[in-house]
Amino acid sequence: MKALLNIENLHVTIEHKNILNGTNLVINEGSTNVLMGPNGSGKSSLALTIMGHPRYIITQGTINFQGVALNTLSPDKRAKAGVFLAFQHPCEIEGIRLGDFLREAYNSLYDNTPQQLSLKEFATHLKNQLNLLKISDSFVERFVNVGFSGGEKKLAEMLQLAVLQPKLAILDEIDSGLDLDALKTVCTAITAIHAAHPHMSFLIITHNPRILNHLTLDAVHVMRKGEIVTSGGPEIVDELEKKGFK
Ligand code: ADP
Ligand code: MG
Repeated sequence: MKALLNIENLHVTIEHKNILNGTNLVINEGSTNVLMGPNGSGKSSLALTIMGHPRYIITQGTINFQGVALNTLSPDKRAKAGVFLAFQHPCEIEGIRLGDFLREAYNSLYDNTPQQLSLKEFATHLKNQLNLLKISDSFVERFVNVGFSGGEKKLAEMLQLAVLQPKLAILDEIDSGLDLDALKTVCTAITAIHAAHPHMSFLIITHNPRILNHLTLDAVHVMRKGEIVTSGGPEIVDELEKKGFK
């Protein structure tokens, strides 16, 4: 299998505090990965560092994405390279319809290229993705996340993922605060998107083993104190459930 993302010896600080202390992580093309670990172990920091959040300063190590060093690229360039991050707490944007937001996001990814879509072409693309995720048309008429339930906010992130079709989708605590039905809906969306785009890779951050009952995993990575301490197959999850993160 070909590596899509290869992180080597990554050290990161925030406000002069060491957060990541030599993280190593390989994500293969087309694979579904889960990143687990106790609260405060650095999972979100790793996700934000991959995406290029300016508060996270890389002091050592490399983030290699298909042969390109992401380290110094701005977040928009990383997005154009094919990295996507779904937020744990998506923000609400009053006055902006979800459908318009998605069209702007899509067309800015393809700035000045023939892949940009006209209004009509985008409407078709969006409709296809709504069908894929079995979401009703009225969903995208609403303002971005305004008045959305927890489950709807996460579904909106999944719709964004389906529309933008990145190479790597990082989903930070996509399951947090969801009841079982909403959790299943999100997992069904992930599975449908992956089936439609088999080359897409997923890094799903969670500390809830329940999500794993609804997804087919290739690899599990466990983080502690800013380091990946174990990587392996899905069987690691059973062990974690029995023994905890220690
Ligand atoms: P996780 O997502 O695994 O729960 P985080 O990446 O959020 O862990 O946090 C890792 C560590 O980094 C924690 O000790 C947290 O307090 C610290 N940290 C994260 N973000 C910030 C920040 N913006 N300012 C200060 N410390 C932070
Ligand atoms: Mg977190």
